[in-house]
Amino acid sequence: LFAQRCDFIAGAVSTEVMPDAGPPEIAFAGRSNVGKSSLVNSLTGRTTLARVSHTPGRTQQVNFFTLADDRMRLVDLPGYGYAKVSKQQLAGWTGLIKLYLKGRSTLRRVCLLIDSRHGIKDVDAEIMKMLDTAAVPYRIVLTKADEPKPAELADIIAQVTETARKHPAALPEPIVTSSRDKRGVEELRADLAELLAS
Ligand code: GDP
Repeated sequence: LFAQRCDFIAGAVSTEVMPDAGPPEIAFAGRSNVGKSSLVNSLTGRTTLARVSHTPGRTQQVNFFTLADDRMRLVDLPGYGYAKVSKQQLAGWTGLIKLYLKGRSTLRRVCLLIDSRHGIKDVDAEIMKMLDTAAVPYRIVLTKADEPKPAELADIIAQVTETARKHPAALPEPIVTSSRDKRGVEELRADLAELLAS
């Protein structure tokens, strides 16, 4: 799935300008600074695909990329929940994310990125509820797993797994990743490739 070219298709700031629904889509969502750009880059093996932003919350667009000869698309959603943006900006972004998540017929899976150091925050729980309501299957993907001590990481994994069980649209097992030491990247690739095969 990730062996072939992965090209940018379009960036959309509103649902009106999103590319027409085509092949199945996998969307990546998470709080600003969760490590989403780094993980997308690790997955695709390209450093230019999702620009690592050092200003959290700068990526405000929904970005579409084509994978495997456009048999699947990767959708990079804008980071949410950054404390320093205005309430109005935040409402605009979450509004856009919600419209995409609720209304996209070809959306097959959401990877919900959670920082291993912080676990599930209120704003993540809100997105999870919305995904449950929209019945969009999602998997929790822990990021930056190189940061916490092994015992702390084990605690977070247990907490996240427990929380996921209570959410009907959440897949039971989180995938634990790090863009720094590359753990879990192959597992996530395989998980997404399986979607295309099914
Ligand atoms: P985004 O805002 O979610 O796209 O996050 P970025 O990919 O831009 O990363 C945000 C910050 O976290 C940057 O300073 C990255 O260097 C750092 N970061 C990203 N991935 C990892 C990781 O796997 N481990 C560690 N320790 N830091 C990471």
